[in-house]
Amino acid sequence: MIAEAQKLLKEYYGFDSFRRGQEEIIGHILDNKNTLGIMPTGGGKSICYQIPGLILKGTAIIVSPLISLMKDQVDALETLGISATYINSSLSGEEQQNRMHKLRQGDYDFIYVASERFETNSFLYSIKQIEITFLAFDEAHCISQWGHDFRPSYRSIVSTIQNLPNIPMVMALTATATTEVVKDIQRLLSIESEAVVKTGFARENLSFHLIKGRDKHEYISDYLNKHGQESGIIYAPTRKQVDSIAHYLEGKSFSVAKYHAGLSEQKRQHEQNRFIQDEATIMVATNAFGMGIDKSNVHYVIHFALPMNIEAYYQEAGRAGRDGEPSDCILLFSGQDTHLQKFLIEQSMMDESMKSNEYKKLQSMVNYCHTDSCLQTYILHYFHDYSATEDCGRCTNCQSSGEKQNRTKEAQMVLSCVKRMDERFGAGLTAKVLKGSKDKKIKQFGFEKLSTYGLMANQTEKEITNFIHYLVAEDYLTTGDQRYPILQLTKNAEAILKGEKEIWMLREIVQQTVQTDYKEDL
Ligand code: ADP
Repeated sequence: MIAEAQKLLKEYYGFDSFRRGQEEIIGHILDNKNTLGIMPTGGGKSICYQIPGLILKGTAIIVSPLISLMKDQVDALETLGISATYINSSLSGEEQQNRMHKLRQGDYDFIYVASERFETNSFLYSIKQIEITFLAFDEAHCISQWGHDFRPSYRSIVSTIQNLPNIPMVMALTATATTEVVKDIQRLLSIESEAVVKTGFARENLSFHLIKGRDKHEYISDYLNKHGQESGIIYAPTRKQVDSIAHYLEGKSFSVAKYHAGLSEQKRQHEQNRFIQDEATIMVATNAFGMGIDKSNVHYVIHFALPMNIEAYYQEAGRAGRDGEPSDCILLFSGQDTHLQKFLIEQSMMDESMKSNEYKKLQSMVNYCHTDSCLQTYILHYFHDYSATEDCGRCTNCQSSGEKQNRTKEAQMVLSCVKRMDERFGAGLTAKVLKGSKDKKIKQFGFEKLSTYGLMANQTEKEITNFIHYLVAEDYLTTGDQRYPILQLTKNAEAILKGEKEIWMLREIVQQTVQTDYKEDL
């Protein structure tokens, strides 16, 4: 049957060969196995359910979180001469009934629905009447509370389908691959380990850049002066910032669209269309924009501030370069950024264990901003992808002049100071002790008596703090998570303290210490 899959790939889509992972995923489905496919954004997940959906008899049901995506997918299938539809709340009640009627007659090969549809009796009644090929969960991480976009209605489908005897198999597709999420999806959907297909996560055409210590507006404006003719996305964390960045860029005569949840549905649709149809080249948006949007000529994604975790970052940044052209993923970082993310976690409805998990993930994102290793490798390792044997050679850290400074002595000072402070305090107070500050907290704990007090008096507190963040990023120190970031030594610290290992740090990272901080107002 794989030969048939190959034939359809050419016949319908015009592609000569499968991309990594596609054939394997399709193979499992054709063998009637519940399957999980994990591929990066732009990796080609749609074909993984579309081709087996064409080969196997019956109607394939695709659950997708975004209504805006469904119409595009259905249009694309119809253009290929494939019978498909979607049923969602954007349609009139009459039209929904119409489509449901056709569904019961088995008229469709594919039907797209949002997860909430499984909460309506008329839909459940309809799908009980027909032959179903499989149920495919697109963006399947929405099913897991460990994912970055958990949706309870996704999760509740799991119990609903247990009462539907005519669903022979399920498939799950996602670009999120943290171990917890994968395990959770496997458990919830009964997917055996051999039917979990994970392709490498590297995107060869993406260059990751980390910008610190620059005026963010000025940086964006400089960058767009060089690249503003090309399509790109600028993500900002709050609606207010989206408005203000869009306004700033319009003032500089750039062609801008904007998107956030504070705009009316109609306005959002309008702005999205202007961007998709290349009437506006730059989209300024919150993370409400982008899921499921297949615009292939986006050639840069700029994050105006720290995203909440690496999963979200890689997914958003990964919207660049879907056409395979070289593209930039730029993160503008300032120390203040973490406050906003912590605030958002605190304000959320999550329970304590989930909050603590979010803080941990935020810490990994912060570490990304302080490492001097290859940024792409850092991300891949975060996803437990160790398949790349070389660094990317394109990111800020790979591209830096490469000149390194020996910072072993200072590292020893920091590590022994943390030890002497009983591993009970954060980076701020530790930096004060090393600086030799007269802060009253120092007196209160008697830290002025420590042998490490004032050892780094020739540096600013900010420089020392940044160096501490670097040591956290490189795993010599740990803060556990971002909630109460208390410094503790890791097992790697010992070799440094004993003088068995040296620390060489990129000169540029050493110099990026004076940061321009913005007060982010909500
Ligand atoms: P994802 O859902 O994983 O983000 P898509 O399914 O939207 O990705 O596919 C991304 C792009 O890759 C689409 O433009 C698609 O046509 C293209 N594509 C998918 N599979 C192949 C293939 N085997 N060969 C060439 N291009 C492909």
